Amino acid sequence: MRGRERKGSDVIVVGGGAIGLACARALAARGRHVTVIDRGVRGGEATLAAGGMLSPLAESTGPGPFLDIGLASFALWPSFVEQIEEETGMSLDLRTNGKLLLALETEAAHALRARHDWAKRNGLDVRWLEGAALRGREPSVHPAAVCGVHIADDGQVDNRLLARALDVAARAAGCAVAVGEASGLLVESGAVRGVVTRDGADHPADLVVLAAGAWSGGMSGLPRPLPVRPVKGQMVALASPSPLSTAVETEGCYLIPRRGGSVWVGATSEDVGFSGGTTPDARDALRRAAAAAVPGLDGAPEIEAWDGFRPGTPDGLPILGPDPDLPGLIHATGHFRNGILLTPITAELVAGAADGAPDPRLAAFRPDRFPGG
Ligand SMILES: Cc1cc2nc3c(=O)[nH]c(=O)nc-3n(C[C@H](O)[C@H](O)[C@H](O)COP(=O)(O)OP(=O)(O)OC[C@H]3O[C@@H](n4cnc5c(N)ncnc54)[C@H](O)[C@@H]3O)c2cc1C
Repeated sequence: MRGRERKGSDVIVVGGGAIGLACARALAARGRHVTVIDRGVRGGEATLAAGGMLSPLAESTGPGPFLDIGLASFALWPSFVEQIEEETGMSLDLRTNGKLLLALETEAAHALRARHDWAKRNGLDVRWLEGAALRGREPSVHPAAVCGVHIADDGQVDNRLLARALDVAARAAGCAVAVGEASGLLVESGAVRGVVTRDGADHPADLVVLAAGAWSGGMSGLPRPLPVRPVKGQMVALASPSPLSTAVETEGCYLIPRRGGSVWVGATSEDVGFSGGTTPDARDALRRAAAAAVPGLDGAPEIEAWDGFRPGTPDGLPILGPDPDLPGLIHATGHFRNGILLTPITAELVAGAADGAPDPRLAAFRPDRFPGG
């Protein structure tokens, strides 16, 4: 393993995506000696492939633990970014001006009405939009769109810059970042004592934070199988002359305005294991869906296309917190479609758990909640 690793790190974080780096930074800020071990993809895998949307309500099917921690994490974003920008001198282009859910067809409009109504009943800041009000909010959407809902508690961040900034911030906080592939946990007398890397080297630590994204289940020494599976997503970036004021989510795609005159369009959701790469069919489908929502994007040049692997779980919720059967192991994985949104709260929850004060909210995200767990 190459890189700077302190002798006797008291914490090893496996995985240097947004989740691992944010946890490392938070642990170092509490005085821990932290080493991040990553295979060498600076800033992560899914983290770099993501859309960067911060969407607690749009990603919820109803009230529940996801909505609760999603909203809590969304509320942390402004101060989180302010601190990281101060620590790194970088600008992360955080926007907290909401999102538009758009229905192009009647069926989608019914679903949108139901979502609007439960959100309203739960005191969330949502606004129903039709006709001139809809066109006034987002003039470039299709004139025949049926209706929309503006969600106030939503936004976006530049996830690629976030990855870079977290790497800088974690190092500035004193974390060592080492290149290597963790293959298993070192377990002695029923407790974690570090990790072993693919080259056979042992790396002792009192605490291990497992933040290896879609690959987290591949570690040996886990007390039970960890049901994290890759869910592939493909995206395209289109050159856009008329920028949207917020992200728009509609049938078949979402559209995210980015700095520099482009719109990112996502995303597919594919169960194909770790088979990477984009396909012409998926890219065409995304471009068509984008043009159906925003006619100005018809024929817009494709600037870039990419794919990544979301860390999916059977119930779509992350796996967070201390392992109940293996002292010294803390889980920070399985963030599926929402790992960017959940980065600040995950770092707080993990740092609290490492201090021996696990937050009661972790109960919904326990690693042993799955059948057979
Ligand atoms: C197309 C797409 C769009 C998305 N859009 C959004 C969005 O808009 N908003 C949102 O909140 N989320 C979004 N997500 C989800 C989000 O990207 C993920 O939930 C999040 O990035 C997970 O972060 P992570 O740090 O856990 O994983 P990753 O970023 O995948 O990082 C894991 C790291 O662990 C390393 N690693 C793996 N195995 C090992 C090992 N054995 N040893 C050492 N290192 C290892 C990898 O190299 C990698 O650097 C999207 C995902 C995709 C794919």
